[in-house]
Order: sequence, then structure tokens, then C-alpha cells
Amino acid sequence: MTEKSEFDDSPMFRTALAQLDRVAAKLNLEADVHERLRLPRRALVVSIPVRMDDGNTQVFLGYRVHHSTVLGPTKGGLRYDKDVSLGEVTALAMLMSWKCALMGLPYGGAKGGVRVNPRQLSKRELEHLTRRYTAEIILLIGPDLDIPAPDLGTDEQTMAWMMDTYSMTQGKSVPGVVTGKPIIVGGSAGRREATGRGIVYALYQALRHLGLELKGRKVVVQGFGNVGSVAARLLWREGAVITGVSDVKGGIWNANGLDVRQLEAYIAESGGVSGFPGTVAVSNTDLLEQPCDVLIPAAVGGQIRGDNAERVKATVVVEGANGPTTPEGDSVLRDRGVTVIPDILANAGGVIVSYFEWVQGLQYYFWRESEITSRLQEVMTRAFNRVWALGQKEGTDLRTAALMEGISRVAEGYRVRGLYP
Ligand code: GLU
Repeated sequence: MTEKSEFDDSPMFRTALAQLDRVAAKLNLEADVHERLRLPRRALVVSIPVRMDDGNTQVFLGYRVHHSTVLGPTKGGLRYDKDVSLGEVTALAMLMSWKCALMGLPYGGAKGGVRVNPRQLSKRELEHLTRRYTAEIILLIGPDLDIPAPDLGTDEQTMAWMMDTYSMTQGKSVPGVVTGKPIIVGGSAGRREATGRGIVYALYQALRHLGLELKGRKVVVQGFGNVGSVAARLLWREGAVITGVSDVKGGIWNANGLDVRQLEAYIAESGGVSGFPGTVAVSNTDLLEQPCDVLIPAAVGGQIRGDNAERVKATVVVEGANGPTTPEGDSVLRDRGVTVIPDILANAGGVIVSYFEWVQGLQYYFWRESEITSRLQEVMTRAFNRVWALGQKEGTDLRTAALMEGISRVAEGYRVRGLYP
């Protein structure tokens, strides 16, 4: 096996490797293919100087990593977060390889990141950061090379700045260089809601297999951003009882359920969930341990761990975030019989509709939202049922089954393409 690498300092990278190694053994993967999958194809580290509003220059660290290019151009989000590191971005790029392969998308996995707290920057500073980051990684991106998308701390506006910066260097508009763009410049209907909507489709299938109804189920959502808020709203509309939610500042709880529409109006005025009338305050960590049927961690990584998984009351956990459960937390949940819908399956709705956006852009032909939603439902439902069936056949949990399918497809790509030269 490869000697220690630059990436190993990151807990998330070590988790991703441990998952790969465990599944490679289960799949009897050849040593050479396994070895190839343990390291990214390429990783770029850049420094990004930004003239701040106060006139001083601050320099930020940025990364773009291509994990595997064997199944097609690479695809994956760009995150702005104060804890971003090379190892974390590399781990997330690896997860994107498995996620895209599991969903049958013609992509390899990539990820980008900038180590910054975006909430501390003005809009002007964020624009300059984004444009300079894009200029620094420009050799690695392109519509048939690597296509970034939003992730933690980035959004449609970030993608519009990236697309514009790239387009300026080409002398023409190149909408296909990013997905998750505003609709007016080539974005897709339904992309913003796609990850949250995909979570709902995955949960439906899980409940169906478990013989449970969604109506009346108590649901807790950690993280009320683009993923968590959409999932909460859709589930509430379908009759689930949303008993607790949180954002970066903390959580709120009401055992009888929250009115999600009123909560959204409250957030629009106050800027956060805290203080919503009729609720008690709970911390982000305590929220995970509140009594409920379904827990949706849709915030950041490493939330359900060996030291708190025992106290999670939910019987179904749907991973809206990437990597919210550590391997120790995962094995506690597994031993307790909790059904965990893993990140690469549960939150794949985002990249699925990114793929639809990319295809629509390449064809200059845009679909109606109802068409996008029904195709998303079909892809998610089929993937869920394949993973469920494989889990039953192999006697494994859903994470192992999902990784087995994703990893074996990428491995097959390496097998048929062979080693250059
Ligand atoms: N950032 C999302 C993810 O982790 C979406 C990536 C994409 O659309 O390319 O899956």
C-alpha cells in the first residue's frame, strides 16, 4: 500500500480510505486497481489574494482535486468553509466518484474548497475571492473536463461568478463549465431544490421497505440550509411532523411539530431559526439526541460519532450532508439496527440534477420542472432499490452496499481502460 501521504492528516480522508479498504476487501478488488483508487488523479493547491474592504490584502488557501477521470469528466461541488483542508477536499472528491458511479452518471469525482468563513466576507469580497480562485484553477475546469457546482457555503451567485470568469477567458459564454447556476444564464429548473427533494424520495423508499408511513413520522433536521430546509418543507407538506431544526447558531424544538411555512417567514425576517415562537432552544449536538423517528443530518461532517451515536433515538438516519457519520458512529448505529441511508445515496439528488443541467446546456434545450422532478424521482428510486436489494443479498448495511456498487463500477472502468502507457 502507498506510503503515508499529504492527505492523511485529515480525519475525513482517513475515513474515506477506511471505507474504500473495507469495501475493496469485500469485493476482492485487485491490488493494482485498489491502490489506484486510494489516491486522487491530481490535486491543485492555490493561494488566493483578496483586497478586502478595509484596503488590506488577505490570502486564502484554495484546492481543486480530481479523484478519478476514468468514467468521464469530473464533477463535484466547491465549498467555502473555515475547516477546509487538502485532505478533506480529497476525501469529498473520492465520495463524488462513488456517488456519480452509483447513480450511473458519466462522471468521475472532484471537489474544490477555499478555507474561509464566507459569513465574515462582504459580497464584494466574496466575488473577488471566487473570481481569483476560478482564475487560479482555470486549467483544471471546463465543460468536458471538470464541472464545479455549489456545496457548503456557496450558491447560485458563486456559480454565476465562476461561469463569468471562465467565459471571459474564452471570449464567449460557456455555461457548461458549472452547474447550479441561476436559471437566467443556463441553470436548470429544480436544481436548487434537488438535493432536498432527493432526500425525500430516498426516505420514501426506506420507509416503504420498513413498512412505515411518512405521515405522522417525527423528523429532526440538523442544518436549515439549501438541503435541510427543502427536505423539511417537502416532508412537512407530506404530513411528517418536523419536531426540531437547527442552523449554525443553534437549534429549536417543539415536540408537537413546527409550522415550516411560518418558520421560513420568521427566518426571512430574523436571519435564523433561533427564537421561533413556541419552541425551546437546543444546541446542535443535543438536537441529534432528541426523540424522533427520522434524523436528517444536513449540516457538516463528523456529527454522529462513537461518543454520541448511542443516544441517537431515530430509527432512520438520512445523510443530507457529506460524511456526517464517523466510522465509529456508523458501527454503533449498525449494531443498534438503525437504518442509515448513506450520503452517496441520500444526497445524490443534487448531482443528478446537475447532470440534467449539463445535458440541457449541451443541447440548448431546457426541460420543464415537472420533467426534471419525475426523472430525479426515477433515478433516486431505482438506485435506492438496487442498493436495498444488494444489502439484502450480501447481508450488509446500506452504506456498504452503496459503496460496493459505486466502487465496483469505477474499478470496472479502470479494468477495461487499462494502464497508460
Ligand atoms: N455538492 C453536491 C454534492 O456533494 C453537488 C455536486 C454537483 O452537483 O456536482 O453532491
